[in-house]
Amino acid sequence: MDYYSKQISKLIEEFSGLPGIGAKSAQRLAFHILNMPTEQVEALSNAILEAKRNVKYCKCCFTLTDEDVCPICKDSTRNQKVIMVVENTRDLAAYEKTGKFEGVYHVLHGAISPMLGIGPNDIKLKELMIRLEADVDEVIIATNSSLEGETTAMYISKLIKPTGIKVTRIASGVPVGGDLEYIDEVTLLRALEGRTQL
Ligand code: ZN
Repeated sequence: MDYYSKQISKLIEEFSGLPGIGAKSAQRLAFHILNMPTEQVEALSNAILEAKRNVKYCKCCFTLTDEDVCPICKDSTRNQKVIMVVENTRDLAAYEKTGKFEGVYHVLHGAISPMLGIGPNDIKLKELMIRLEADVDEVIIATNSSLEGETTAMYISKLIKPTGIKVTRIASGVPVGGDLEYIDEVTLLRALEGRTQL
C-alpha cells in the first residue's frame, strides 16, 4: 500500500472493506474512480449518501424503502392477510421477481443463530407477532434452508401455533444453505406452491 499516495491508499482501503472485494479489485475500483469525470464521481457518491440518508424500514413489513410505508404494503390489490416471512430485502426481491406472490411480506433482517449469538430479539420477530394481532389467514415461512433459516422457521412456527393462524413452510426444493436471492424463479415458485403446513 505504501507504493501509493496516502489518499489513493485510503480509497483502496475503503473498497477492500466491502464484501466480495479483494485487494486487486479494490485497486482496480480506486483507479477507475480516479479516471472518471468529476461529475460522474459526484453522482456516485451522492447516490450512496442519499440512499444511506433516506432509506429506512417500512413501518409495516420492515423492508428497506424510502417511504414510510413501502409500495407493497400500500397496494390494496395485494392480499394483506397472507404474510411471507423472509430473512432480508434481497429475498423479498427474489420473490417479487416471480410476479406470482399476491400477499405481503415481513422482513426479519437476519435469522436466529445461537453460534453467532443472534437471538429472537435481534431480528424483527416481535414486530411480526404484533402484525399477527390483525386479521391474518396464513404466515408462509420463507427463511433460507440453512441451519439458521431452519432454526428460525421452527421458532416462529412454535410462536404462532397458539394463535391458530395457519403456518406454512416453503418446500425444500431450495438447495440447502442456498441464499434465496441466487435461486431461479421457477425453483422459487415451486418452493412456494409446494409449501407444507407446519
Ligand atoms: Zn412494507
